[in-house]
Amino acid sequence: MNTPETPYVTTCPVGCTTTLADTALRLREGLLRRCGSCGQLLSSASAARYNETMAQFDDSAFNITTGSAQTRRDAVARKRLARIAGLLGKLPRDIRLCDVGCSRGQFVATALAEGFGAEGVEPAPQIAQAARDAGLPVRTGLLEDQQYADACFDALTLFEVVEHLRTPLPLLTECRRVLKPGGILLISTGNAASWTAATMGVRWDYFDMARDGGHISFFNPRSMAILAANAGFAVERIDTSRVKFHDRENTPRGRYAAGKLLAEALNLPARLLGRGHDMLAWLRKPAQ
Ligand SMILES: [Zn+2]
Repeated sequence: MNTPETPYVTTCPVGCTTTLADTALRLREGLLRRCGSCGQLLSSASAARYNETMAQFDDSAFNITTGSAQTRRDAVARKRLARIAGLLGKLPRDIRLCDVGCSRGQFVATALAEGFGAEGVEPAPQIAQAARDAGLPVRTGLLEDQQYADACFDALTLFEVVEHLRTPLPLLTECRRVLKPGGILLISTGNAASWTAATMGVRWDYFDMARDGGHISFFNPRSMAILAANAGFAVERIDTSRVKFHDRENTPRGRYAAGKLLAEALNLPARLLGRGHDMLAWLRKPAQ
């Protein structure tokens, strides 16, 4: 007889003590569960399934962007960098920044080009090496392994990292230690309370571990705010943006175009109501 495999995530990653309850959303890895306190959604994937899908990140050819995708990515990065400088009230040259989970180092490269003091940390060894081969200051490993001095960074960024973590609190605690008082931590992740997630249900591509390896923990603006508070950060703001209803690859062209028009009309209300697909949490280490 087969016994069901133990889920890798057994408690709410945000730090709630509430028991996780099954939802009606069945993924390949089993039913999604929800924290009754903060609404965080959690995968039932086993540790083996998690590790298997995380392997995609350690490929030196992973995550290469070119052409218009690269241009868009650069524009997004520059906008985020300008906002970091604005929140810190400093010039880029006076800002030391670290992108944690930096992959090939694209954000580090843009930050350096914009005049920031920038470096990265990436746990997947091959992709960290690929970043160094491209001339970028990227260390291999977890932030917790680097033994950075207390209060040595003005800003830290965690792009698409927290949804991979069973327990994000140790990482956020280390972020708080290495940030200067008043320093900024910027976190990006998908929004499980988005209209996209509500409409697509189990078909939300963000839930798909085969496509997005290691996605096990799905935040909403409220659970993000609780995580921030539990880690000792003040919330500057939590923004959501973008509505999408179909994948371009898996949808007939006419339907995709109609869905896109509707999605564009809903962009502003989604932003105002916290229902956008992409979530950006701007957190600050308190001054004392
Ligand atoms: Zn919770």
